[in-house]
Amino acid sequence: AKAAGGNAIRSHTPVMNERITFRMSLETKLRRAVAKNQLQLYFQPQVATASGRLTGAEALLRWHDGEKFIPPDHFIPVAEDSGLIIQIGEWVVERTIAQILEWRALNLAVPPIAINLSPRQFWHSSISTFILERLRQAGLPTSAIKAEVTESVLLDAENASIEELRRLHAAGVMIALDDFGTGYSSLSYLQRLPIGTLKIDKSFIKDLVLDEPTSSSEPMVRAIMAMAKSLSLEVVAEGVETQPQRRELEALGCDVIQGYLIGRPLPAGEFAEKFLSRSRP
Ligand code: C2E
Ligand code: CA
Ligand code: CA
Ligand code: CA
Repeated sequence: AKAAGGNAIRSHTPVMNERITFRMSLETKLRRAVAKNQLQLYFQPQVATASGRLTGAEALLRWHDGEKFIPPDHFIPVAEDSGLIIQIGEWVVERTIAQILEWRALNLAVPPIAINLSPRQFWHSSISTFILERLRQAGLPTSAIKAEVTESVLLDAENASIEELRRLHAAGVMIALDDFGTGYSSLSYLQRLPIGTLKIDKSFIKDLVLDEPTSSSEPMVRAIMAMAKSLSLEVVAEGVETQPQRRELEALGCDVIQGYLIGRPLPAGEFAEKFLSRSRP
């Protein structure tokens, strides 16, 4: 047994050992950050392409570990692998609902706030029950939040995730399909999923208006728009950074845009100051 153990350890290359150690320390730190309530939610505006009217916002996790900022693309995979995403995901739901209530108490008009749901959150007990129960306790309508999922929820063999999405949708929670165009792209699932919104991935938006027209993603975006229209889906373009991109999206009939051109994700207070207005008495 001793020899086998030794072999097992030696079978990791130094680089692998370093990776594993790095990941373990990140997991330990993340666990501590969750326990100490050190994660934050930032909010990024979504506006009607033509009028600029605020139509929604996306809640995005932020983790400041001392001086440095650890991007979600680094720690979300760790949270997913370790199962911490369950706890973090529930915190995101609770914090979003608490934030909506705080803004409402300040008499601010709050648009639907979108939260991101990982596939793993659908394996665990009922995420739909959790969300609907928290909304009910808060006295908020189901239209107060929106759920963003990626095509990877479809990898769930038993289709339990789709059942969960159907329950949310039936109760009135809007569902958006995130990063559209980057996944498996069998389009048949679009009709099986209870979604109301497609979010065009930012890689398409980046290549929308180029000096070199042959590498433009314009034909792709045009095709996505046509398909969305025929299925009566709303389209949100993410990663909109320039005015020419916005103009092009408006010409293509894209309903809503989100990106640095309109505003970066901001802490709740700054977001409210910049983007929320008083609701009419
Ligand atoms: P995502 O859901 O696709 O979120 C959009 C990402 O694009 C965000 O990155 C946002 O800050 C960034 N972004 C927004 N506008 C622009 C722009 O004009 N240009 C560019 N280049 N980027 C823009 P962020 O905040 O770093 O989040 C990365 C990913 O982490 C998210 O991608 C999402 O998959 C995941 N994530 C973030 N928060 C949560 C969460 O609460 N739960 C889960 N499960 N995942 C989350
Ligand atoms: Ca998203
Ligand atoms: Ca996205
Ligand atoms: Ca993404």
